[in-house]
Amino acid sequence: MTDRYAVFGHPIGHSKSPRIHALFATQTGQNLSYTAHDVPAENFDHALDAFFASGGKGINCTVPLKELAHGRADILSERAERAKAVNTLAVDEDGRLYGDNTDGVGLLRDLTVNLGLALQNRRILLLGAGGASRGILQPLLAEQPERLFVANRTVEKAIQLAGEFDDLGPVTGVGFDALSGRQFDLILNATAASLSGDLPPLPAGVLAPGGVCYDLAYGNQPTAFVRWGQEHGAARSVDGLGMLVEQAAEAFYLWRKLRPETGPVIALLDRERSLAA
Ligand code: NDP
Repeated sequence: MTDRYAVFGHPIGHSKSPRIHALFATQTGQNLSYTAHDVPAENFDHALDAFFASGGKGINCTVPLKELAHGRADILSERAERAKAVNTLAVDEDGRLYGDNTDGVGLLRDLTVNLGLALQNRRILLLGAGGASRGILQPLLAEQPERLFVANRTVEKAIQLAGEFDDLGPVTGVGFDALSGRQFDLILNATAASLSGDLPPLPAGVLAPGGVCYDLAYGNQPTAFVRWGQEHGAARSVDGLGMLVEQAAEAFYLWRKLRPETGPVIALLDRERSLAA
């Protein structure tokens, strides 16, 4: 019988997750289906119950459902508990829902394995203090950066978030105006601004010579932040396609106990979007 998986979110129309999981399934010889469901927050409980009651095995949750998914899990991984957000749910043999957050490990694999970056003793700037930032702070701090600044439009959220993680390493929450006169080796954009063509207000000189820019958002065209990096002399300026594939691979591993090869999938999606652009 075909095992069923799905991604829930709103909006969901442009999700690449069904394509990624279909490629993983073909690569590893797994018999499964993976579909995208448009689920607004108010329908989440009902959609989740219906999916699992009809025999579904696991779901991914994206905006705006990760906090709600955290609330529905019977058991949480340590990283999901820290993040207070769940992007992967799996049902165990006793029918209990296990909640995990694979965003952080996905980002870290893309940064350290695919892009070959070393983060130890680096100065890191994380833009944004929403759900994505929550999921990635723990693994970023585990790499032992020299310092990590979280800068956000709503300053209180950056301070609050940094305070939740400062037992794990040197992390400080600030507003964008506190960035003047500082330099960073790696700037990660986890704001939702980029795709709509907006950019957080970044002071000139904030990117250190030889520094790297990484936008968690992705698209067929370079995002506004990727272009900002290119224009400000970044050694690399890349978007979050690699993270997307890596977090999916970690979810696939949780569900199927098999680790797909991500390199060929990232390369294929990258080629496809160049053709679409
Ligand atoms: P949230 O809605 O939880 O957070 C949005 C954040 O963006 C907040 O910090 C908000 O600031 C900030 N923001 C929104 N608009 C602007 C603006 N115009 N200027 C400055 N800051 C702004 O979103 P998520 O954290 O879930 O997602 C953030 C991004 O990360 C999205 O683009 C998403 O697609 C991407 N992502 C990519 C993944 C991948 O696998 N590649 C995985 C997860 C997320 P404020 O608090 O002031 O409102």
